[in-house]
Amino acid sequence: MQNLTDRELIEIINTDKYDAELFKKADAIRRERYGTDVYIRGLIEFTNYCKNNCYYCGIRAGNTNAVRYRLTKDDILSCCEEGYNLGFRTFVLQGGEDPFFTDEKVCNIVYSIREKYPDCAITLSIGEKSKDSYKAYFKAGANRYLLRHETATSEHYSLLHPPIMSLEARKECLYNLKEIGYQVGSGFMVGSPFQTTENLVADLRFLTELSPDMVGIGPYITHKETPFFDKPSGTLQLTLRMLAILRIMFPHALLPATTALGSIHPEGRELGLKAGANVVMPNLSPMENRKKYAIYENKIATGLEAAQNVKELKESFEAIGYKIVTARGDVRR
Ligand code: SAH
Repeated sequence: MQNLTDRELIEIINTDKYDAELFKKADAIRRERYGTDVYIRGLIEFTNYCKNNCYYCGIRAGNTNAVRYRLTKDDILSCCEEGYNLGFRTFVLQGGEDPFFTDEKVCNIVYSIREKYPDCAITLSIGEKSKDSYKAYFKAGANRYLLRHETATSEHYSLLHPPIMSLEARKECLYNLKEIGYQVGSGFMVGSPFQTTENLVADLRFLTELSPDMVGIGPYITHKETPFFDKPSGTLQLTLRMLAILRIMFPHALLPATTALGSIHPEGRELGLKAGANVVMPNLSPMENRKKYAIYENKIATGLEAAQNVKELKESFEAIGYKIVTARGDVRR
């Protein structure tokens, strides 16, 4: 699929007529590389304060109606402890770009988790930072970093973000993270406002160039307290199709069936697995905060995506032939 021309890729992305074939091929490739294993990551959304104003995001600084919260280091460590006991061996610390969490604070938290859980992977997803900051977190014990590029077309990027943000800066962060030695995850939203099929092709081309270890994609979902309140959400079908294409193009990639996918359809994540995904990220954040981390509306929070319900999630995946495993789940290049 890497060898297809842009026109051929556009043709595949624009129609549902190849879907059955794509899903079948993607599933076969995943089974070859990763078997039926599904890796679980415990997601800890530790702050919803954000200095940025991304037009699509519900926790943007400009949303004065968002109810803000921050977890303390002790809260975060309790989440890890609960997660560890539930079988999680990867903790993902995600948040808005919150200046309260200085590098010193982030390093201190990472270091404490690293000390207590030497066998676990620590993933950070806290946005754009300087190379020195990324180095410091790595030194403190972080192994992985998630930073979606969001869209690989500059003009589209500037329709989704205020002028102070740029695709160039985003890309530089991603290359810095790789150079430092992180396992890097990038990705994009499917069906984000103004997105064209050409934009999606550019996303695939950029990912080929970056060659990340993980690729996170999910449908864009409207949030009414953003400038995009009247823009429609992305669709299940296109997200599944893009997942399958990613699996075929990047056999090694760790591909999550995201919470956003589970939020637009009750079986979104199961369908994601069938289309080639092999990771899920159940929520370990304290229950009272989950709804507040509302990057989009109607985010699922209390059902099978709750880390506490991992046993039920396991059963639901087993019913369709996949197996949740308790392993760090590192990339297999
Ligand atoms: N501040 C961090 C984490 C952002 S939240 C960072 O900048 O990386 C993680 C991801 O959620 C974003 O990268 C974006 O792709 C996605 N997201 C944000 N708003 C969304 C929306 N309205 N619908 C779907 N996904 C959204």
